[in-house]
Amino acid sequence: MMMDVPLLVAPMLERAERLFPKKEIVSLTQSGTYRYTYAEMGRRTRQLASVLKQLGVQKGERVGTLAWNDHRHLEAYFAIPGMGAVLHTINIRLSPEHLAYVINHAKDRVLLIDVTVWPLVEKIRDQLKTVEYFVVMTDGALPETTVQPLYSYEKLLKNGDPEWKFPRELDENDPAGMCYTSATTGKPKGVVYTQRSIFLHSMSLGLADVLGLSESDTCLSVVPMFHVNAWGLPFAATWFGTKQVLPGPQMTPQNIAKLINSEQVTVTGGVPTIWIGMLKELEQNDYDLSSLRKLLFGGSAAPKSMIQAYEEKYGIPVVHAYGMTETSPVVSVCNLKSHQQSLSKEERLELKSKQGIPAPGVEIKVVGTDGEVAWNGQEMGELLVRGPWIAAGYFNDERSEKAFQDGWLHTGDVVTVDEEGAIKIVDRTKDLIKSGGEWISSVDLEDALMAHEAVYEAAVVAVPHKKWLERPIACIVLKDDFVGKVSDQDLLDFLKPQVAKWWLPDAIIFMKELPKNSVGKLLKRALREEMKARFAS
Ligand code: ADP
Repeated sequence: MMMDVPLLVAPMLERAERLFPKKEIVSLTQSGTYRYTYAEMGRRTRQLASVLKQLGVQKGERVGTLAWNDHRHLEAYFAIPGMGAVLHTINIRLSPEHLAYVINHAKDRVLLIDVTVWPLVEKIRDQLKTVEYFVVMTDGALPETTVQPLYSYEKLLKNGDPEWKFPRELDENDPAGMCYTSATTGKPKGVVYTQRSIFLHSMSLGLADVLGLSESDTCLSVVPMFHVNAWGLPFAATWFGTKQVLPGPQMTPQNIAKLINSEQVTVTGGVPTIWIGMLKELEQNDYDLSSLRKLLFGGSAAPKSMIQAYEEKYGIPVVHAYGMTETSPVVSVCNLKSHQQSLSKEERLELKSKQGIPAPGVEIKVVGTDGEVAWNGQEMGELLVRGPWIAAGYFNDERSEKAFQDGWLHTGDVVTVDEEGAIKIVDRTKDLIKSGGEWISSVDLEDALMAHEAVYEAAVVAVPHKKWLERPIACIVLKDDFVGKVSDQDLLDFLKPQVAKWWLPDAIIFMKELPKNSVGKLLKRALREEMKARFAS
């Protein structure tokens, strides 16, 4: 018989306050670099929780944050779930229409808003139906506005109680966090995390075969704290007493490289777009990034050429991970098994570009048209997942029915799984290209194109075709030095030995940039529309 101690978020912070009071958090805000300790962070977090209580925030109520990766956002990460309310991190890069939608849908009464984001709130102010308190996070003056009631986060905190006690009589299945998907299609869907799911997911980040995050690390969360809780890094790092670096609003490759260097960052993570940009920066300027022991890529497929460049050219160990908003997000992480370490460089690279094996705690199943498919690296099917940090439904949303069936989340991702259990994302269901009854993986074509020395970014989309149903079109951004020097035929010739003939794109279109969504992922829907208008036959 074991104690039935609820798995809650507040004790994670209490541990940091108790065991690592002097450990540092470095936060970049609009007004400069701010450094403090877990002891100070704990006091301010308690002040914030007590203030929210004074504002009448109830258990289970959503409190919205519109903020970057900084110390105030970190305080909200613990104050809100700690007091039993729900931390609703709002993606500030959503369209104004979607921003208003998620705030209204979650029924946020209190919004904590970074001062740099204020103009956005001002714009949608008239559409907000439930907000009663606008709290602006800044060291400086409040914005000039007619919006009322407007509060200063710092002034409010002065009235807060630094000794405030987090309630322990919460249920571990109480809601604690909320994040809407970044809506590549349709309206954003709300996912509600529980106290328990945050606890267990954070714990998994400490496992050596997941991220192995520990007290001795310095963790830089590049992935935004408004996107799937920055992959859970701020929760886990606080709990483990890890030094944290929060890069604030200026997440440019240059600033990130400087921070890794100056703060001796050991672990960091973000979407491939950021790291592609960073490669360009590393080619142009000298940085010492030797402190990094793990560079985490996730959110969309990491091109093989990028993994290779980081590992071989810069000696930075890369880990490819897969997940989604609905999965907290860790589903799988690509750490090679011990017997795979001695494989050839090429074989290891091939494996590293897969999305890895399921993390302990996550179960998977791959279902094709005739039921479960074999794990042979060939047969494709939709990936289904389940586990204690996988959502069981969307928040007040009728779209839940399709995605959640028989206790499994249907991810909408088409994958193969090899004999070792490693997942390879072939495509999103909606991005697969069906040509003459056979599937073409846009991800594989992009990967092959990205290996060309002139290619900076590649996106492959389907256009309707009379004879073949669909055909691939490749949209390419060239590296600056190669613009005008590489032709579509050069790229097709480069692809020819790598892919089946019928996979070759019908056209290669050179572009200045590719459309991205709010978290830096390719917006294929927009590209598809554009290419359809140009090429549909
Ligand atoms: P949205 O679904 O709104 O884009 P998410 O950030 O939750 O928001 O996206 C999750 C999706 O991102 C997954 O379903 C998958 O298609 C894609 N994805 C995540 N990680 C990877 C990866 N490592 N490789 C390929 N695709 C990935």
